[in-house]
Amino acid sequence: MHDTFAPTLAAARARIANVQPEAYARTHNALGGAVSGLSPYITHGYVSLAQVLAGVAARHDLGMRHKFIYELGWRAYFRHVWQHRGADIVRSLHQGPLPDEAYARELPADIREGCTGVPVVDQAVRALYATGMLHNHARMWLASYIVHVRKLHWRIAADWLYGHLLDGDLASNHLSWQWVAGTASSKPYLFNADNVARYAPASWHSPGSVIDTSYETLDRIARESLPQRPCGREATLASRPQIEPGLGTQPPEALGLTAPDARAVAGRDVWLVHPWSLGELPAALPADTVVVGIFVADFHHAWPWSERRWHFAGSRMAELAAHRWYGDATAIRDAWKAAHTVRSIHDPHLAPWLARWARCEAAPALFPEIDRRCDSFSQWWARASHGLESAADLLAADRVRAR
Ligand SMILES: Cc1cc2nc3c(=O)[nH]c(=O)nc-3n(C[C@H](O)[C@H](O)[C@H](O)COP(=O)(O)OP(=O)(O)OC[C@H]3O[C@@H](n4cnc5c(N)ncnc54)[C@H](O)[C@@H]3O)c2cc1C
Repeated sequence: MHDTFAPTLAAARARIANVQPEAYARTHNALGGAVSGLSPYITHGYVSLAQVLAGVAARHDLGMRHKFIYELGWRAYFRHVWQHRGADIVRSLHQGPLPDEAYARELPADIREGCTGVPVVDQAVRALYATGMLHNHARMWLASYIVHVRKLHWRIAADWLYGHLLDGDLASNHLSWQWVAGTASSKPYLFNADNVARYAPASWHSPGSVIDTSYETLDRIARESLPQRPCGREATLASRPQIEPGLGTQPPEALGLTAPDARAVAGRDVWLVHPWSLGELPAALPADTVVVGIFVADFHHAWPWSERRWHFAGSRMAELAAHRWYGDATAIRDAWKAAHTVRSIHDPHLAPWLARWARCEAAPALFPEIDRRCDSFSQWWARASHGLESAADLLAADRVRAR
């Protein structure tokens, strides 16, 4: 896993060029495996799934069943669920092993501070705070421990994780938590110390802790409403309390955002850039178009971000947009009234507002849109990959749809 995520298109492209599909397929479940580290760039629209796959397929032959395409598919599947379920994705889709009321609503301090004494949990929290990223397996372990061992409601913990991630995405994050919790899947995701020992470095191994047990015992724990106490091992270096980075509803001053200003757009054609559309500007944009970047305060009041994430989105926006605003939806709407036209790219994070403000193009896709709601990844995958043999087929079909 790369430690730094430069807020540039060049960094995203370098990561695409570095994807090694053969090593990925063999090692991606391991914490030191050949994963791409592309999700912050995909989440913020620096690059689309189609651009990622096209870059990889230009260097390597990939069959449709390749693990890398399959994982891109998970992202697209979660978007499919969001499209069909809307705001319901942040509520339990069905009951998990216990009713919602059985779970606590406050994240315990020892988890928040990464000092539970269970090394796999404490290392995950430490890595999250230090980098804003976490390997998929570490996310699954952390989520499973929090929900099934400590009995915290998945939604509370999902909101906490979302705030700290550079790639925080309401569909991928909240639906993954539901998948682990068993509220969007047929059974809870459980893991034990042997699983950690297989996929993580030694400092994460957790022998003698609450998760050093059989899957039968873990399943019983998941179905009992009493939380397990923290294991009480003596705090090791790894489990000294971590200072949780602050989460902010407002951008850091250094990003130079201003209040919405109608004068900047009066009588002009506007291309609206937002934090989920930070890719290249459209090639056909007329030269006199004014590019305006926006952060909608109403969204950030509900979903605060770490300073690292504000910089990741705000720095790239500064490369694209001469004017960059932070304001509430009413002030932004009022500013657009002065503009001649406003165009943008759709994203569901801004669904309550964007379509009312701008003529929106669909975000670039890769997989075909499936009209009928699929309640499992396998149902969706069967339809989305139907008749396709390779990455080249998938990309060609996508190009035809985009015409
Ligand atoms: C509890 C939990 C929370 C998560 N929250 C998020 C989130 O907020 N945002 C997010 O993008 N992903 C989330 N994921 C999915 C996954 O962990 C990350 O996408 C992945 O770890 C990103 O690392 P990478 O770019 O190196 O992935 P790679 O393994 O290199 O995969 C390439 C790309 O495929 C997509 N992808 C891979 N695995 C998954 C997956 N399981 N689900 C969805 N997309 C996937 C991502 O876009 C990723 O960048 C979450 C998973 C769990 C279990």
